[in-house]
Amino acid sequence: TVIRPGDRGKTPKVTFNDVAGLDEAKVEIMEFVDFLKKPEKYRRLGAKLPKGALLVGPPGTGKTLLAKATAGEASVPFFSTSGSDFIEMFVGVGPSRVRDLFAQARANAPCIVFIDEIDAVGRARGRGGFAGGNDERENTLNALLVEMDGFTSSTGVVVFAGTNRADILDKALLRPGRFDRQVLIDKPDIRGRYQIFLVHLRPLKLADDVSTIAKRLASLTPGFTGADIANICNEAALIAARDNRSQVGMSDFEAATDRVIGGLEKKNKVISREE
Ligand code: ATP
Repeated sequence: TVIRPGDRGKTPKVTFNDVAGLDEAKVEIMEFVDFLKKPEKYRRLGAKLPKGALLVGPPGTGKTLLAKATAGEASVPFFSTSGSDFIEMFVGVGPSRVRDLFAQARANAPCIVFIDEIDAVGRARGRGGFAGGNDERENTLNALLVEMDGFTSSTGVVVFAGTNRADILDKALLRPGRFDRQVLIDKPDIRGRYQIFLVHLRPLKLADDVSTIAKRLASLTPGFTGADIANICNEAALIAARDNRSQVGMSDFEAATDRVIGGLEKKNKVISREE
């Protein structure tokens, strides 16, 4: 049984408190938390809860974090993997990894399964793009569909999948009883960035008032994701340490922001060269 990388069934310590912003997404996800905590309430009414949801948004916006925090809120085990992990050179490995993942989930129910980059397996058929031959990918997708159909909502397994392209997914994945709900996870606006900075500034020893720094940084970072913000906060602390300062100050954050912007520009260049 190989589920890699990521989480293999521990109950996460992170909760919604660690996820800044994303208020609407949290409201939608809250229903799953309630269901995992009090399944009888739903069963008694004969309600069938969706088996899962697609978390749709750009990389680094907190999809994995939100899925994990949902498990933390509900105090249930969390299993995570990436769609690209299902795709292997060896025939049959993908489908068997999918079956293993769901077997473990069922054995540990109630629990949450998160499949990041679902598009790696779930791209609409006939679109190509996978060098190892499409049969293996299709077989893996079929295994996933079979597993999704193979449990009822009373099994207590909730499946979330992350993607930044819902439009390229095979329609079969989006049918009722599968990923029939979509939760949008967008890049944060200035208020969202402020809140995310507050979360990631929390562990640092700061030279100024935390909300002053967060406000200033939020206005300096349009277009940044939560992952970029986490990165800036850590870089700033590293810069302060390198300069032997006992507190992290605004100049460290400014230098860190430049450094992260430099990294993003480089990444974009590489991406545009590949296209
Ligand atoms: P990918 O699609 O690339 O897997 P993702 O959307 O799943 O990205 P995460 O892996 O959840 O993004 O985010 C990376 C890190 O960025 C998180 O571990 C966290 O430190 C930080 N982060 C992202 N969004 C938020 C947020 N809303 N609040 C707090 N931290 C965040």
